[in-house]
Amino acid sequence: MRTHKIAVIPADGIGKEVIAAGLKAMEALQARCGDFAMTFEHFPWGSDYYRAHGRMMDADGLERLKKFDAIYFGAVGDPVIPDSITLWGLRLPICQGFDQYANVRPTRVLPGLTSPLRHVNGPELDWVIVRENSEGEYAGHGGRAHRGFPEEVGTETAVFTRTGVTRIMRFAHKLAASRPRKLLTIVTKSNAQRHGMVMWDEIAAEVGREFPDVTVDKMLVDAMTQRMVLNPASLDTIVATNLHADILSDLAAALAGSLGVGPTGNIDPEGRFPSMFEPIHGSAFDITGKGIANPVATFWTGAMMLDHLGEHAAAKRLMTAVELITRDPANHTPDLGGNASTAKVTDAVCEAIRSSN
Ligand code: ATP
Ligand code: MG
Repeated sequence: MRTHKIAVIPADGIGKEVIAAGLKAMEALQARCGDFAMTFEHFPWGSDYYRAHGRMMDADGLERLKKFDAIYFGAVGDPVIPDSITLWGLRLPICQGFDQYANVRPTRVLPGLTSPLRHVNGPELDWVIVRENSEGEYAGHGGRAHRGFPEEVGTETAVFTRTGVTRIMRFAHKLAASRPRKLLTIVTKSNAQRHGMVMWDEIAAEVGREFPDVTVDKMLVDAMTQRMVLNPASLDTIVATNLHADILSDLAAALAGSLGVGPTGNIDPEGRFPSMFEPIHGSAFDITGKGIANPVATFWTGAMMLDHLGEHAAAKRLMTAVELITRDPANHTPDLGGNASTAKVTDAVCEAIRSSN
């Protein structure tokens, strides 16, 4: 039997709650499918671990994670410990250490959910956003001079490399080519940012020639936000820089109904290292411990992980179960306007998996 080794890192806040829910769905799925197995090893890393041990993860953490086929990740972030410690101590070292340069974020309005856009109900909004995940605005280049003095200067330099841009462009074109509409929108800001962003445009044109069957259009990021709201059906696959796609994907999640339903894969497309799958939301300490976190993003995240592992039938079975239960408002958590608990939604999905044909 095919066996996949999964590292589980629930980390902080509702991350623990939604990953527990996701694992229940995975168990139901293995039992129902019967033709593959998954083994789960739990890592207790995160902000509580930091409080106890003075570090977010063990020093040999990446070494230990290397032997897994994928990582199922919850959320990181703490009300007290700053992001510079939490995020930079756990999630980012994994993304960077494993060169997960493609961050993939599918967005759809699931059946039974309502988009805040009045003119959207369902298929008009079906996107995948590809976020460059290894360089750009978040490369950490910059600094501060004359700290605290009137002449203080702070710089934040976006660094793009030909290698980095070429590989994300290839990934995005391939992904677009694999979807029915074969449509790719390339987002930059090359009218105002005239160096790195112009290089993006040039490399996009070069890579585009390798994919004659993909239709490409180009958007400036500001105009893109309007198009996402006013004409969502005109978009399919979208590629943008680290910063731009970060912003666009929060907008996308909101347009799809809630932050609580959006999944992400941090992918190493070359398969040298494990890829990491997580819901796009954060640790949400405002609702932690209340039992009302929406687990749908984490189920969908699990389906992305299964697809990545080659378990396409299981992924489809899981998504079919999710799309069946979201039709019923009784399975909507408060973020979707309902009053279902995490446990209720999880039971409903597991039951839908068990009784699926
Ligand atoms: P991060 O910095 O990690 O992105 P954030 O500060 O942007 O985190 P989140 O933790 O994602 O914020 O939460 C933003 C809001 O969305 C909060 O009000 C939270 O309660 C809500 N939210 C996020 N995820 C969920 C979920 N799965 N179910 C219900 N509500 C959620
Ligand atoms: Mg956020």
